[in-house]
Amino acid sequence: MALSKELLNVLACPKCVREPGCTGDLEYQEEKQQLICRHCNLAYLIKDDIPVMLVDEAVTLQE
Ligand SMILES: [Zn+2]
Repeated sequence: MALSKELLNVLACPKCVREPGCTGDLEYQEEKQQLICRHCNLAYLIKDDIPVMLVDEAVTLQE
C-alpha cells in the first residue's frame, strides 16, 4: 500500500518545521519506504504504512 498524497501533504519534518521560513517539506521515496527531508538530510522510515516522524528514529542520509 502506498502512502496517500493527503497524508504526505500534512506531514512535515519535525526538526525543520520549527525553523523560521521552513515548511519541513518531505520527499517520499516509495522504493525505500522512507520520507526524506532535503533541509536536514534525515530519512524517516515508514513502518507498516505509518511514517515514524521522530527525529530520534530518523536516519541521516549518506549523500
Ligand atoms: Zn528536516
